[in-house]
Order: sequence, then C-alpha cells, then structure tokens
Amino acid sequence: MDLERHDFQLDELAERIKANDNRLVALQVPEGLKMQALGMMDSIEEESGAKVILAADPCYGACDLVHDKMQMMGVELVAHMGHSQMNIDSGMPTHFIPVTYDGTPELAAVLPILEGHRTLAQSRLVSANEKGEMNEEVAKESFLDAVGRVAPLTGAGLGLVGSIQHLHLLEDFKDRLEEGGFEVEIPLGGDRLAFPGQVLGCNYSGDTPSIGHYLFLGSGDFHPIGLVLHTGKPLAMLNPYTGDASEMSFERIERILRQRFGLIMAVDEAISFGILIGEKPGQMRRNLAIRIKRLLEKHDRRGYLLALDHVSPDLIDFYPVDAFVNTACPRIAIDDSKRYSKPLITPYELEVALGEKQWEMGYQFDEIP
Ligand code: SF4
Repeated sequence: MDLERHDFQLDELAERIKANDNRLVALQVPEGLKMQALGMMDSIEEESGAKVILAADPCYGACDLVHDKMQMMGVELVAHMGHSQMNIDSGMPTHFIPVTYDGTPELAAVLPILEGHRTLAQSRLVSANEKGEMNEEVAKESFLDAVGRVAPLTGAGLGLVGSIQHLHLLEDFKDRLEEGGFEVEIPLGGDRLAFPGQVLGCNYSGDTPSIGHYLFLGSGDFHPIGLVLHTGKPLAMLNPYTGDASEMSFERIERILRQRFGLIMAVDEAISFGILIGEKPGQMRRNLAIRIKRLLEKHDRRGYLLALDHVSPDLIDFYPVDAFVNTACPRIAIDDSKRYSKPLITPYELEVALGEKQWEMGYQFDEIP
C-alpha cells in the first residue's frame, strides 16, 4: 500500500484529543492497515499526549465499532479508520477518518466498457416498455436477463459509485462523463450510507430505476459483486490504485447464483437450523432472527438462536443442526459459505426453501437498511 498517498488525518485527530483533554483513546483500523497501526499509535501519542490502545480484533466495517468493553477499560474516544458513520450508536464518542487516496485514474480505459453497458441498458429499457405489465412469465425472463433481480427500468443512466477512499473523485468524474455524453447520477442512499455515491457490502440503497448501469471506483470485487446481485445491472470497475478497468462478468454472478440455488435445495429436508445473530452493533438483527424462528416453527422445523461477535466455521460447525441461517453480516453467507461444513443461507433463501417466496421473481440480496 502506498501510504504516502493516503490521508490518515492524524493531525485533526490529535487536535480533537487535545481539545477534549482525552487521556485514553482507542484506535480501530481495517485489516489492511493493521501493519501500519503501531506507527500511527506512536504519532498520535507524540502529538496528543494521550495513551492509545489498538482495538486489535478484526474489523471489517463501521458496523463493528468498539463499544462497551473499551468503555470498561476507561477509553474516552474511539478513532475509527477507513469507514464512515452509519445509523448506529455504539455508545462511545467516535472520530471517523475516511482515509482518502490521492490518485485519479484515467477515464479512457473504462469508456469502451461503459459504452457497451449503456447499449445493454437502453435495450433493456426498450424491451421492458414493450413487455408492459410484469407477469410471472415475463419476470422470470427478465430475471435471467438481468442476472439478479427484477428491477423495472425508467432510464438507462450511469450510476457513479465508489468505496469511501475514492468518493472525493465522483463529482469530477461526473462532469467528465457528462461531457462524454453519459447521463450520470450519483446515487443517494439511506441512513446507513454517509456520503452520495457510497456503497457498502451490505447496502446499495441508492439504486434507482433510472440507473441502467454502474461505474464503481475502487479496488477488489467485494462491493461490485453485492451491487450486481442487488440490482442485476451491468457494472464497470475502475481501480484508482492501478488504473485498470474491468467489468463484473455475467458468468461470475451466475456462478454465485447457482451456488445459492444449490444451498436452497440442500436445506429442503433440513429440520433443525442454527439462526446466527451478530453481536456487532451494526449487524445485530434480533427481530429478523426471531421472525425466522417463528417461520421455521410454522413449517414444523426447529430454530436455535445463536449470538456471536465473530462468525467462523470453528465456532458453529460442531452444533448438531442441519443448516444455518445468517442474520449477521450478509456477506458471510454469500462470500464464505464454502468454508462451512453445513449449508449457510440468508433469510430470503430460507423463505424460498420454505416456499414463502419465489426464486423466479428475482434473487433478493440480503440488505441491512
Ligand atoms: S455488515 Fe458486513 S458488509 Fe456491512 S458494513 Fe459490516 S462488514 Fe461490511
């Protein structure tokens, strides 16, 4: 990682610590920055005079803010890096540092992909208008075409999104893409998203029917996979670290959906289920878990509520149940299910398995609002 080009805003953090006269501060960083954490602790301590404790447990998002345990240690302020505030209250004063990256990739590399996707979106728009009212047969056809989800389009615009490190580029990219003839929208999401154009692995609430395809500024395929599963729309990717342009392939998404369908079939005969409840403040969906337990009882199955901070195979595989339903981070079931020895499915997938929902009406991504 090119640290020189990242803005960790340690000066602002030290100023806040001094202004508040905080004596003990917790630093929480994503996994990719753990190697640099000790150097940051040195610099915060030198500049602010406070003592710093690293929250060394794994941290994958702002859903996972350190809370009561740090309070019991006497921590007065949490400095949380790499993520933005979401609609949760950890009960601790928290200073969010987005860690922006100073690098602007060339647009040219991604333009041919965007032009192809725009044509695809325009043809979908036309065929949706010709089909008129969506009956089950049409929905099934659209679903197969749209990869993931039946989402009637009202436009073929370009949705411009990114991960938090690159959101400062969006307005400039919007202007340049509009000059190139694209109709561009920077989507505004719900309360879980702090900034326009932001996406999380569990929330793509900014999607609108007027967006026909997407450009994602960021690295890796974690957010792109979720966005395509959620919307069924074509997506191009431009990596600000390398300048590489690519697209999320139909085959990749189709493989994931086949795997999901296989897991739904696998729980058809399952009688007992472990229902996972995440203890992290932004993953905790207790009401959903209880609703699932009731649903299982309605179908003469058994559900056991299991609360965990971290979900991993060694912590759940041994329970004598036939399958697991996950209500913690939605990506545990989608991205990691192969690591588990028993089927691990989402709440929607359980509803399909029990016949409460129809897969043919479009795959429903498990979103945390
Ligand atoms: S719930 Fe999962 S996907 Fe959502 S922010 Fe947390 S770690 Fe990321």
